[in-house]
Amino acid sequence: MYKDKIRKYFEDHRDEMLSDIAKLVAIDSQRTEAKDGMPYGEGVFKALSTALSMSEKYGFYTKNWENHVGTASLYNDDERALEIMVHLDIVPPGEGWTKTEPFVMKEIDGRIYGRGTADDKGPAVAALYAMRAIKELEIPLSKNVRIMFGCDEECYSEDIKYYFSKTEPADMTFSPDADFPVINIEKGLYYGMMKGKLKSDGKKSVISISAGEKDNVVPGKAYASIKGFKPNEIESIVAEVENITGTTIELTERGEILDILVKGVPAHASTPEEGCNSDTALLELLKRINLDKSELSDAIETLSEMFPHGDTNGTAAGVYAADDESGEITVSLNIMKYDGENFEAVYDSRMPICSTYKSMDPIRNKAAEIGLEFEDDFLPPHYVPSDSEFVKTLIASYEKYSGNKGEAKAMGGATYVHGIKNAVAFGAALEGEDNKMHGADESAVIDTLLMSGMIFADAIYQLCK
Ligand SMILES: [Zn+2]
Repeated sequence: MYKDKIRKYFEDHRDEMLSDIAKLVAIDSQRTEAKDGMPYGEGVFKALSTALSMSEKYGFYTKNWENHVGTASLYNDDERALEIMVHLDIVPPGEGWTKTEPFVMKEIDGRIYGRGTADDKGPAVAALYAMRAIKELEIPLSKNVRIMFGCDEECYSEDIKYYFSKTEPADMTFSPDADFPVINIEKGLYYGMMKGKLKSDGKKSVISISAGEKDNVVPGKAYASIKGFKPNEIESIVAEVENITGTTIELTERGEILDILVKGVPAHASTPEEGCNSDTALLELLKRINLDKSELSDAIETLSEMFPHGDTNGTAAGVYAADDESGEITVSLNIMKYDGENFEAVYDSRMPICSTYKSMDPIRNKAAEIGLEFEDDFLPPHYVPSDSEFVKTLIASYEKYSGNKGEAKAMGGATYVHGIKNAVAFGAALEGEDNKMHGADESAVIDTLLMSGMIFADAIYQLCK
């Protein structure tokens, strides 16, 4: 019944909303060193003060939580049925901006450009305007709604740790810090490191390995140095491995030493099938060239069996898992290092909701068998049922204003709300809209931000009426 009124409210407030976003974009709110009363530095402090005075001006009840976060509530009550979690901190601007200066918001062809326009200042203001619309259109609610302005999403999320040490989560929480429609499942995050001292002796042996750099990135480059080989002795094996793996391999002779460079295609660890892993191709090559037997060559043999090139769902390692709602597990070997003595291998896994810490037992056991120690870290999957009233209501609000069919979806990365009771990521970009988040020329589509505001207003009404 309020559909047209809400739509008109946003059409009428377009310019005002954009000028509020510009005010926040103008503040360089990267996390910097803490100062007295400013736990995340001065820029973040300024952005929070600006957002809170904006909220006050629009008639909301604000509270500053010692500059860790700030909140703005529709009613003067600590109880709230719904919380909207946004964040005001940004990643560094970086180089390569062509459309505008990173802290000067500019409108070009239906988009606004500037650091934070998409992540997450634009969506934050859209959510604030959704609450404004409810208030100014005098749409009656029986329950309270609150917006939480976070200040440390991009670094360590210390802001919400502080906040939830002072207050309980709301009954329902959404965070417009991703895509529409609704992300109701975030896979579990697992990080495993195998390490130990391994001998690499014999005439034909590995001297060093340096393959991959970041534990959450499928590596695109792997280096190794071997001795006891001439390039022509292994050329045909190299060609075979290039053929099987789709990588390119370069050999460089350096006296007695042969340097190997394997080039694949990097990808995010949550979507390893989009990359071509240089490390698993290197294992394949080292396995085939007939190294003299040593502790290291044994480890290479075992690792290449556990992580064969192209196997991105843990089948060979014995940890394959999948379920209808969250899809398949991903497993990706992302780092290998060897300096002649110390060996280290790191893999990343994104685990579906059916999996637990124990699901990784096969890999842990195998590592123990080859004499490697194991270190790991596990963040359990996050899940809000897609048939819950909450998720169904958000989808309905999305469908009402976007005209698209909406469906809850799973993702491999963790968002701001991971681990918070009954919390989902909801908006504020449409699927397939490239906003260059964290890159140069970050932007947001103005019509999508306005539509997000309408969707949030409708969701607030439906969930709090
Ligand atoms: Zn963000």
